[in-house]
Amino acid sequence: MRLTFPHMGNLHIPLKAMLQYLGADVVVPPPSSKKTLTLGVKYAPEFACMPFKLNLGNFIEARELGADTVVMAGGCGPCRFGYYAQIEHAILKDIGCDMQLIVLEPPEKHISEFILKVRQIAGTRSWWQVIQAIRFGYQKARAVDLLEIASFKARPRELVPGATELAYRQGLALIDGATSSVELKEANKKALRIISGVTQDHSRPVLKIGLIGEIYTLLEPFSNHNLERRLGSLGVEVDRSIYLSEWVNDHLFLGLIKGLRSKNEACAAAAPYLRHFVGGHGQETIGSAVNYARAGYDGVIQVFPFTCMPEIVAKSVLPGVGGDFGIPFLTLIMDEQSGEAGLLTRLEAFVDLLARRKGIEEVVNR
Ligand code: SF4
Repeated sequence: MRLTFPHMGNLHIPLKAMLQYLGADVVVPPPSSKKTLTLGVKYAPEFACMPFKLNLGNFIEARELGADTVVMAGGCGPCRFGYYAQIEHAILKDIGCDMQLIVLEPPEKHISEFILKVRQIAGTRSWWQVIQAIRFGYQKARAVDLLEIASFKARPRELVPGATELAYRQGLALIDGATSSVELKEANKKALRIISGVTQDHSRPVLKIGLIGEIYTLLEPFSNHNLERRLGSLGVEVDRSIYLSEWVNDHLFLGLIKGLRSKNEACAAAAPYLRHFVGGHGQETIGSAVNYARAGYDGVIQVFPFTCMPEIVAKSVLPGVGGDFGIPFLTLIMDEQSGEAGLLTRLEAFVDLLARRKGIEEVVNR
């Protein structure tokens, strides 16, 4: 069994670590690219959301590298995610890329099915080893998140354009290369040291923007045209409403790890505007917008794929939040037609607006 899975930002680092810990043969697809999207667009239904198309492209590319089994998350609720795995599997079969499918249903809803599928992946490994593997995967996810957060702070303040990106890439490689918890601890420290070694101008005026929206588009830089990096080079420190480790804590560990933001907190903050689940992370999008406004952020950007139902609902609610808190919002909707120039123009205009509101004369633009 040669396992593969879809890309979603840095997800491949903890997931690969976890699967390899269990002795699995893992094929990581090439990073999502124009080729991945072209393959996905060619075979996916036209109105499928962009993550579906990119997932499909990832699987086809992984198949070319010898993968024969897809590990995919399942879902339930009003959006289309619950059908993703089965439809992608059927399409792969139709185009002659027949692969085995292992769907990991959300453990909080289908615990017995989840356990069964984990057993299928783990083979003869003991439950103790499975727990250790999940723990190791979580530790990697947290290390990656901490590095990302450090890069968000350093990027708008860096003196040499591109220095943070370089440091960030080096840090990621160290975390990815760690093969035990002890090595990972060291790698994590070293990675954070490399980022803090980036020469920065701490007196530079910097804007703060919260990024909210659909999880895939938020986490996968190819699908959002490197939004975090672009904002960083426009002099903006960003924060994201979802990090991998928080997602794992909410959905796998049922919030047992303390000190991390939780979906329950976000949903509580959303309550005056949206009280029920609308699929995906629609409710959390509203709650996170409220939390960013309360925390004094200068603006909020919502990002989601074209036709994403939960985020369309959230988009219609956001003006109420903006009106109550006096915080500006920008919505970016991504699909295979999205162009970089148009995106950059909108980002520059939004950043200019925020800078004027704050009385900042000049924002950095590299
Ligand atoms: S949350 Fe949006 S993008 Fe994700 S599967 Fe559902 S509709 Fe598609």
